[in-house]
Amino acid sequence: MNKLTDPLKQATEALGKKICAALLSNGYKSAVYVRTAEEARETASDMIPDGVSVGIPGTVTVRQIGLIEKLEAKNCRVIHHWDPALTRETRSPRLAAENSSDWFVTSSNAVTFDGRMVNIDGTGNRVAGMAWGTGKILFVIGMNKASRDLESALKRVRDIATPPNTVRVGMTTPCVTLGCCVDCNAPERSCRAVLILERVPFGRESHVILVGESLGY
Ligand code: SF4
Repeated sequence: MNKLTDPLKQATEALGKKICAALLSNGYKSAVYVRTAEEARETASDMIPDGVSVGIPGTVTVRQIGLIEKLEAKNCRVIHHWDPALTRETRSPRLAAENSSDWFVTSSNAVTFDGRMVNIDGTGNRVAGMAWGTGKILFVIGMNKASRDLESALKRVRDIATPPNTVRVGMTTPCVTLGCCVDCNAPERSCRAVLILERVPFGRESHVILVGESLGY
């Protein structure tokens, strides 16, 4: 990599590389830092073989970097459920197919400086795939999601990641109007399952691409 001149980018890169080292020691098969969304897309595309099936759960980041189009262009069978044509009956098998794809490609709501992933889910399919996807698992994470420790990661997940996600799906939970979490008991509460990956679960092959840009929520 060329030397950066922007102090903020230099510091972000230094932190990203420190987190990658922590992830490797926590059992991730690979953890690389890249500077841009374009580099992230190309790195992910190089990692995933042509023609395999790829499950994409609810993730803004993976869509934002243009990875779905890139994978489809190399004949991967991309399976995802952000499809308005799905019905209650067809959605559930689609979620199951995502989690049993050859590759499961997601982001993370937060990653701590010591390499722990923190995620929150309403349906549970995304955290299930992260913990027990039957194929290979790839996380693509913008450095905006780096959090010092578990406490700050959990705060980030509720106060920063969830409000825009609830807005995106048109919910009416209190965080939509307040912009932060009040640990609500609303019927539409989207915070129902929290997963903390302290290490890679036994039997999983997991990879990480950390990106020196702000991606997703
Ligand atoms: S617990 Fe309720 S208020 Fe808090 S982030 Fe989740 S949905 Fe929003």
